[in-house]
Amino acid sequence: MALRTTADAVRRLRGGHPWLFEGSITSVSHEGASGDLAVVFDDDRSFVAVGLFDPSSPIRVKVLHRGKPVTIDAAWFRATIAAAVERRLPISAPADPDEPATTGYRVIHGENDGLPGLVLDRYGHVAVLKLYTAAWVPHLAVLVPIIRELVPTASIVLRLARSIPEAELHGLVEGMSLVGPDVVAPVPFLEHGLRFEADVVRGQKTGHFLDQRDNRIAIGARAAGARVLDLFSCNGGFSVHAAAGGARSVLSVDSSPQAIAAAQRNMELNADRPEVAACRHETIIGEAFATLEKLVAEKRRFDIVIVDPPSFARNALSVPKAMKAYERLAELSAPLVEIGGLLVSASCSARVAMPDFLRAVHAGAAHAGYELDEEGRTEHALDHPIGFAEGGYLKALYSHPRRSRALSIPIAGAAAVTPAPAAPRAPRPAPADTPRTPSADRPRPPRPPRSNKPRPTGRPR
Ligand code: SAH
Repeated sequence: MALRTTADAVRRLRGGHPWLFEGSITSVSHEGASGDLAVVFDDDRSFVAVGLFDPSSPIRVKVLHRGKPVTIDAAWFRATIAAAVERRLPISAPADPDEPATTGYRVIHGENDGLPGLVLDRYGHVAVLKLYTAAWVPHLAVLVPIIRELVPTASIVLRLARSIPEAELHGLVEGMSLVGPDVVAPVPFLEHGLRFEADVVRGQKTGHFLDQRDNRIAIGARAAGARVLDLFSCNGGFSVHAAAGGARSVLSVDSSPQAIAAAQRNMELNADRPEVAACRHETIIGEAFATLEKLVAEKRRFDIVIVDPPSFARNALSVPKAMKAYERLAELSAPLVEIGGLLVSASCSARVAMPDFLRAVHAGAAHAGYELDEEGRTEHALDHPIGFAEGGYLKALYSHPRRSRALSIPIAGAAAVTPAPAAPRAPRPAPADTPRTPSADRPRPPRPPRSNKPRPTGRPR
């Protein structure tokens, strides 16, 4: 198919944006079918880009290539996937032979690796191909043998976004194996030497939140002797790293009974480590906000509190509500952190950019009478590259809550002097170092500016 678009869209596509919206298309050569290759030309009939036509999505063309014209064929797909595989070599084949092994990582991160709407995660001997658009369906016959060759595994499991209309699936079924035997049991894999299992057929995402690996490693490295609270623990990623790092106790909280059962199982898988065996692991199946309120009321204290909620802003309208939720989480979690302890506040909402997130977290803590001394910020891991503005979604703040001077209790002897109730100090202005990123969630390259603060680990991201 040949397409013409508005001048604005031409500019965006040439600038590297991977999406062509329905409303920007001014003419089409003929009605295309899902997955057809659509070639965009400018008014001078010069090539702009080529992508997959997606008639059931407002993102009507998902761009595969821009610049000089190329042929999109098996050789092109092979080269694109090979580049993605090579990018992950520091994870799959670390240069340092003493680096603990990681066999669970993202191999293809959609748009950010040049394959819009397609994710490939590897868990040891199983690969999981997740499609976010039916436009890939006609190309699977070419793609799957290439994936099999470049990412050799026993099975390739198919996962499908719920938004894909069944009529466009041509008999493909969620959870089926495209290659190899069906996967009927949780799949073992390693994350920095620790054992985990992923339910690749029914689990959230493709079975594990691979994007938080570096933050989990950072927590493991500083958990010795700590009392750790892992809120929104899911299957215990942070919990297990903390226990293996020598945490005295870990409390995992998640509203999903399946997630908590998986967290317990993942902890048991590592029980041969003396640190894990010695760690007291408690779990709560419960709503995080209500659980936090209870923990605050009980005056519980933890040396490390990790708050890693699901995306609160699934669309533009829900951004204000998401900001309130981040605020409230900080308000409830700051008081739980022991003096000198660490609060890790994470966000996976692409529509909430780092500066806004930081503002919400600082404001929330201030409501509770705390200031947050920032230690560092983290963004995306190496296997989750950011290829365009909307590709960035993950951010985390490492901070140390401290009672605001304005609200501190007067020392004995000065009690007769009632201090005027002062407003908590205004949150410090957040640096405008990250572009606004309106868009999709957890799943997502130019890279965003690197954070200007030290990172909690020296691990390359
Ligand atoms: N920290 C995890 C990933 C968290 S994903 C890791 O490192 O793997 C978000 C988790 O929050 C999911 O497991 C989901 O079940 C849970 N969740 C969603 N809403 C919740 C709520 N209101 N209260 C508690 N848990 C919730």
